[in-house]
Amino acid sequence: MGTFLGYRCSLCAAEYAPREVTYTCPKDGGNLDVVLDYQAIRRSATPTSISSSREQSIWRYLPLLPVDDPGHEGTALHAVGWTPLLHPARLARLAGLAHLWLKDDGRNPTASFKDRASAVAVARAQEIAAEVIVTASTGNAGAALAGMAAAAGRPAVIIAPKTAPSAKVAQLLIFGARVMLVNGTYDQAFDLALEAANAFGWYCRSTGYNPFTVEGKKTAAFEIAEQFSMLAKPSAAPRTAWDVPDAVFVSVGDGNIISGLHKGFKDLLALGWIEKMPRLYGVQSTGSAAIYNAFVSGKEVITPVRATTLADSISVDLPRDGVRAVRAARETGGSYLAVSDEAILAAMRDLARSAAVFAEPAGATAYAGLAAAVREGLIGLEERVLVLNTGSGLKDVRSAMQAAGEAPVIEPTLSALKSSLGRG
Ligand SMILES: *Cc1c(COP(=O)(O)O)cnc(C)c1O
Ligand SMILES: [Zn+2]
Repeated sequence: MGTFLGYRCSLCAAEYAPREVTYTCPKDGGNLDVVLDYQAIRRSATPTSISSSREQSIWRYLPLLPVDDPGHEGTALHAVGWTPLLHPARLARLAGLAHLWLKDDGRNPTASFKDRASAVAVARAQEIAAEVIVTASTGNAGAALAGMAAAAGRPAVIIAPKTAPSAKVAQLLIFGARVMLVNGTYDQAFDLALEAANAFGWYCRSTGYNPFTVEGKKTAAFEIAEQFSMLAKPSAAPRTAWDVPDAVFVSVGDGNIISGLHKGFKDLLALGWIEKMPRLYGVQSTGSAAIYNAFVSGKEVITPVRATTLADSISVDLPRDGVRAVRAARETGGSYLAVSDEAILAAMRDLARSAAVFAEPAGATAYAGLAAAVREGLIGLEERVLVLNTGSGLKDVRSAMQAAGEAPVIEPTLSALKSSLGRG
């Protein structure tokens, strides 16, 4: 917290003190980057001091975060992050790669990557003594806020499209949030959450608007770097403490996760804790490809689309963090890929059958993008590649059934079983 210097606008580079602004740049509406005092961080923490932390959550990275410890030990707020880094050999063979890792963020308290952002937003709300926290959500951001608010004993209001998968709506309700389902799109829910925050003085967590979500999401980059440093070292031992893969694949809707990963790796590079940036690859559905379109055009102009993908968590008409998301790929030498919904369903099967990871469609999109990138020759077959699964498949059972098909119903007899097995 003592290392939190203020904000810098990602569009006009104007700088603001921590209490001067709350959300976006007053001049141009640009997303604000949190500015940290790297020298002060270097004085208070080292890779070794963090690696010896007993906190198995995002809060092990407290010295690199712009908030204080939120308290509420022993609750789900301290179970966010430090998710498993899997190294599934069969999935690597299927992808045609020698070195493939899968970080499973479906294994967070509310079963998505969004817990990282919501945990930090709740910590910030406590610090500025905000009473009610509101967010727009396609489902996961709201579930994460509802869960983290429940852990902290604070009220939350969630505004989501009524088309959100029912398991996600159930999560919102069971955590005790006030839930409003709008007869409209996520983009309309977004505008309404903003209006409500202004009208009622609520603290707005909405993705691509609140500058603290990226600060929560960047903890995944820290974990990747720390967990990679724990792998067997290649012969030339690196000079710095932590390590990164060559390429990271992540699905993209609003563009806030990929912007968060970028921020995290930039923090580590600025601190001298890693030696190079991994290339960041953003993956969208062809049915919701506004940021992909911008990347391919070579410009930073985000033109809205009419989103139609079955991957609800990345179904976005107007991405709210598009400019930084384009830069995340461009500045790291990565790229964007767009994949069909059929490829996303196939990726759900591949992840489940070759790595035992049950991903929701938006989570599996990252792997679908990797498969496309390998086909297009964007990835060297000997490179170290990491795919991030951002959400659990249990959140959207209907899509899973679409990917997996139906089971036959048979009479409870061996002969019926035999004929069903084709041994009749
Ligand atoms: C929110 C979400 C994404 C996309 O994150 P953005 O910041 O909107 O790009 C991807 N996968 C899952 C499961 C999500 O919930
Ligand atoms: Zn600005």
